[in-house]
Amino acid sequence: MMEDGLETQTEPFPEDHVQFEAVLKELRDLPKDDLEGKLVVSGFVDHPYGEDDQRCLECMYYLVHRKWCDLPELAVPVEPEWWCRLWRI
Ligand code: SF4
Repeated sequence: MMEDGLETQTEPFPEDHVQFEAVLKELRDLPKDDLEGKLVVSGFVDHPYGEDDQRCLECMYYLVHRKWCDLPELAVPVEPEWWCRLWRI
């Protein structure tokens, strides 16, 4: 989907716990199998992002051996070079 040019909401990046929770709530309100919705709301991109080239690989939710996002609201397969705005270290 991302290779096909899916536009996702990379901004605003949640700057505090309240904003982070607001994005999580948006995700929880989606139907469980709405993969495209999850990608859009969480702002997925298929490359490193931002001045610091943030990547899933350095995110606290990334499971290296499974190539999986462990954030319950996402729970999708991800590549190490991808990123989303729920990135946390
Ligand atoms: S929360 Fe986002 S940046 Fe972190 S592993 Fe999941 S998809 Fe990647």
